[in-house]
Amino acid sequence: MAATTPKDVRQMYDDFTDPYARIWGANLHFGYWDDTNADASVDDATDRLTDEMIRLLDVDAGDRVLDVGCGIGKPALRLAKARDVRVTGISISRPQVDQANSRAIAEGLAHRVSFAFADAMDLPFEDASFDAVLALESLHHMPDRGRALREMARVLRPGGTLAVADFVLLAPVEEEKKKVVDAFRAGGGVLSLGGIEEYESDVRQAGLVVTASEDISTQARPSFSRTAEAFELARPQVEPFMGADGLNQMISTFRALAEVPEAGYLLLGARRP
Ligand code: SAH
Repeated sequence: MAATTPKDVRQMYDDFTDPYARIWGANLHFGYWDDTNADASVDDATDRLTDEMIRLLDVDAGDRVLDVGCGIGKPALRLAKARDVRVTGISISRPQVDQANSRAIAEGLAHRVSFAFADAMDLPFEDASFDAVLALESLHHMPDRGRALREMARVLRPGGTLAVADFVLLAPVEEEKKKVVDAFRAGGGVLSLGGIEEYESDVRQAGLVVTASEDISTQARPSFSRTAEAFELARPQVEPFMGADGLNQMISTFRALAEVPEAGYLLLGARRP
């Protein structure tokens, strides 16, 4: 299935969150592997990426944090526990929101972590109503990343911090690799994808000051082959959802992406003046 519009992105998450989470784990994002955790499992490495995001947030106990594109809530719950904050997560997938709220209840954290259906392009929150905002691997789904960033800046209080983790292109893609990147865009609902400088410039144009811009492509890169391996192993369970052709296409795209040096990953921190 190709996901090339916001409606397709929603459908993709409504349909594939469950099988995806069963195969990859409840963190619906890439892992982070470096010398200190080279043998880490996918669960540990994806938690590590969440922790790298948390590091970029300047928050105190009791602060209000917005998680834009919350998946099934695992990162928000980890953040709430690590920093004793209150978190509101939003997603455009209702099944994700329901599952995330069930997780918050199961973990005894529903009094300070909750999830709602909302579109990042049009946030249903007052100006300056959050101390921090995070977007963990969600902004590439936005039809207009600048607008999503302006919305996030609007709901952030002056002095509040933003943390973003997302796919980027480190350089223009070589001609023979373009097909693979196009397959990644279409298959993964990647509507916004560009360079690091362009990303920083969008953040600045939203009225924020960039405080950190870390190219973690090397640490995130094993995620491509790990995803391909995980889906290959789960072939019998996942084929009924994706069909043999869809699954083969996904596995071959991720294997090929592991060999595309331009496919990068950015961690970005910013502050509202
Ligand atoms: N941050 C989560 C999920 C990442 S997957 C995690 O790391 O586990 C991307 C998320 O972005 C999904 O939850 C998807 O529903 C959400 N998303 C995509 N487009 C969105 C939009 N326009 N508004 C809000 N959420 C969106």
